[in-house]
Amino acid sequence: MNPGTILLAAAALAGASGQTPDDPLTRPMAVEREAEWLAPAEPVRVFGKTYLVGFGGLSVALIDTGAGLILIDAALPQAAPKILANVAKLGFRPHDIKYILSTEPHFDHAGGLAALARDTGATVIASARGAQALRTGRFAADDPQVGYNARFPPVRNVRVINDGAQLKLGDAVVTARATPGHTVGSMSWAWRSCEGRSCRNIVFGSSLNPVAGKGYRFTSPAGQAVVANYRRAHAAMNVVPCDILITAHAEQSGANGRFAASPDACRAYARASQRALAARLDKERHQ
Ligand SMILES: [Zn+2]
Repeated sequence: MNPGTILLAAAALAGASGQTPDDPLTRPMAVEREAEWLAPAEPVRVFGKTYLVGFGGLSVALIDTGAGLILIDAALPQAAPKILANVAKLGFRPHDIKYILSTEPHFDHAGGLAALARDTGATVIASARGAQALRTGRFAADDPQVGYNARFPPVRNVRVINDGAQLKLGDAVVTARATPGHTVGSMSWAWRSCEGRSCRNIVFGSSLNPVAGKGYRFTSPAGQAVVANYRRAHAAMNVVPCDILITAHAEQSGANGRFAASPDACRAYARASQRALAARLDKERHQ
């Protein structure tokens, strides 16, 4: 059979069983967390031409630049079709997504990247270390969570962006802000969105929670390098222009809703991470 015949056969099979054919790039992961992470949420405008097209638990942002769309993060693999449905619900065309920015190479934020890149033709962009892990679809060797060994669909083509560099598309300028610690390559993204003359600095903050695999110690020599990274992330979060904070895990923004609209939101996010890290170090020292 040629590939076309196989596709037709799969479609016929799907029609007969009522199920969609198995797609390796959207194969469900972490189904036990799905109700929480992928809790259905209506797409919503954050400010100006910035929207949320993700879920109750995991954030996915959309920026309309006037010359194409930018998406930030991709949630779990099985989330990809739902994200594109939310983009369409806002009246945008999924094929107009030009870039997908990644905050961290973990399955809960990067799992859907491969499917979204394939289905839209968009270019995935990440830090150098983020890109390295995305291409393998697994945790980096020096990731505090490497012990979990959760694999996700690898992203073959990833463009690298450095800390402080700007990505320009249409009327949007998105600045990459390295916020390492949770992963070595974690990157937050900052841009301005306007409604008429009124503008807001918006930050999509990467995860800053100090979680680790079984037996990992932040007080070990390798862990101390990670702690030093966290300090860099906290410093970056403290100075980034920030009127509105969207966090990779929605509930960590400190707001009741899906984002926090407060000039202190980013600093509060850094403080919460600092406290959690201090508690974790303290616990390890008393073990
Ligand atoms: Zn993570």
